[in-house]
Amino acid sequence: MAEEARALAAAAQTAAAALQGRALLGSEAHALLGAAGAECPAAAGWSGVLQLAALLGRLRLCSAIAGDEVRRWPGARPRRRLRCLRCGSGDAQMRSTPCASCGRVCACCEACILLGRSRECELLVIGSGQRAFGAQHPIFWHSLAPNRRNHRPNDSTPAQQLSASEPPEAQEAQDRLSRWKLSPAQAEAAGAALAFIEQPVTKVRIDLSAEPTHRRRADLAAPGSSAHAYFSSLRRLLQWRKQTDAFQHQFLLWAVTGAGKTEMIFPLVESAAARGGQVLIATPRRDVVLELDPRIRKAFPHLSVVTLYGGSPQRWERGTVTLATTHQLMRFRRAFDLVIIDELDAYPYHGDPMLHYAAEQAAAADGRCILLSATPPAPLQRAAASGRLCHARVPVRFHRHPLPVPVQLRVPPAAELLRQQQLPASLRKALLASVARGAQVFVFVQRIKLCEPIAAMLGAVCPPETAVGFTSSKDEERADKVNRFRSGELRVLVTTTILERGITIPRSDVFILDADSRLFDEAALVQMAGRAGRSADDPAGRVYFCSSIPSRAQRQAVRHIRIMNRMAAAKGYIINLDAAIHK
Ligand SMILES: [Zn+2]
Ligand SMILES: [Zn+2]
Repeated sequence: MAEEARALAAAAQTAAAALQGRALLGSEAHALLGAAGAECPAAAGWSGVLQLAALLGRLRLCSAIAGDEVRRWPGARPRRRLRCLRCGSGDAQMRSTPCASCGRVCACCEACILLGRSRECELLVIGSGQRAFGAQHPIFWHSLAPNRRNHRPNDSTPAQQLSASEPPEAQEAQDRLSRWKLSPAQAEAAGAALAFIEQPVTKVRIDLSAEPTHRRRADLAAPGSSAHAYFSSLRRLLQWRKQTDAFQHQFLLWAVTGAGKTEMIFPLVESAAARGGQVLIATPRRDVVLELDPRIRKAFPHLSVVTLYGGSPQRWERGTVTLATTHQLMRFRRAFDLVIIDELDAYPYHGDPMLHYAAEQAAAADGRCILLSATPPAPLQRAAASGRLCHARVPVRFHRHPLPVPVQLRVPPAAELLRQQQLPASLRKALLASVARGAQVFVFVQRIKLCEPIAAMLGAVCPPETAVGFTSSKDEERADKVNRFRSGELRVLVTTTILERGITIPRSDVFILDADSRLFDEAALVQMAGRAGRSADDPAGRVYFCSSIPSRAQRQAVRHIRIMNRMAAAKGYIINLDAAIHK
């Protein structure tokens, strides 16, 4: 009997350690424990083990969907609200259905259903979280003698020992950066980000004068305002402060398309790992995760790297560096000392509160978050401009040539071109010039149904040996066509914004039809324009905005690109300054 109790206690400790920093459904927790090689005591089963670990305070067991009562303001009637504790979604995402496992009608969260059903009757196992860098307060390079640095004992690697023996001075940061062979612009931004993640979070006293005027305290106390107006003002004010609080852990790395973001995160990963921290790199798309995987492994051969996406074979493993699609973040809770979020303005991360919640929950208390983007959403740009959010800009590409500035072509709407079956002379000339100079051509259209007929029309205009293709999100052969475009077999590709990011063709020009469409905002236009001039061999790719009159978004995109070029020239980042001035 005593033997059994001892085995159960040991299993509970093992389970608690294996589930640290995790938020898993009951069935997932069992799978993780099985994969971790933990021995399940026959009498108690995994459920008994988890219950004991919870009683010992080593993890938390709760219903995956919790109900609570909220009042919109003091004295208002309470309202019952359901909330998914895994993804943070509220009532709007809940659906009550007859449930096979509990035999009742119970609520299921539809927002995170891709990761397995989160139900009212399902258990959510939340492992113990941690403070950043495993300490009461974060440990900093300059505050510790080398021999006192806090390493997790089983996580020490040759790379870390190397870093630990260096003198902890300002010069040292420069040395650490120099081994990554960054361009001057990359090095400056990476240096700023490095300083941010290695410094303690300073609780800045919020400057009330910086708050938007309509949210000031004075407004709250304005005579004659109704209770409702008072409480909604108060709610906005509290939201603003909560956001400002969150910004203290975040750093925006605003790098133009083709700036070489991946190289800039290497020193950050190195710094966190050397201090015994765990790093998460989250990106919206699975193909980017798969592309990043070999680069990270090559840069850090001594660190354990875990790559997570739907169906990943490593899904229950733990590593110093975790690469994941954003959805996988929901399986973690207070786990990472450093969270790096790539392309935070891209689908699906942008505009999805569930993924924002997941990213927030995945970071350890006092953990740092690096946000990467070429086109940050407006609220972040404003926060950066007002000084609420620490940030660094990389205004130039890694090859140190200016970004191509889009040229406006007066072209009727694409539908009109199709009706007339004729291209305007200006568009025809520009297209043939691009083909003649040996560039591959992206032609972006606003709607999927335009891809095929436009491709047929362009095919008739181009020289007969020029292969013209089209693809969209609905195209089953998309991967194949993109590969044929990458290999150079297809010379012209007509597509939608589905290819606005992530694809790099060395010598390419960009044409955007219906550039004044409401579907193309400033960020989309900047991203599409960012496909041109990516390689050092052909840095001056051509970009054409085709529309009858330039839209506001078009003007903003051109302004955005010009500002970045001017900033790069002013800082001396551009190799050939003459070219920049003539742009
Ligand atoms: Zn959910
Ligand atoms: Zn149920």
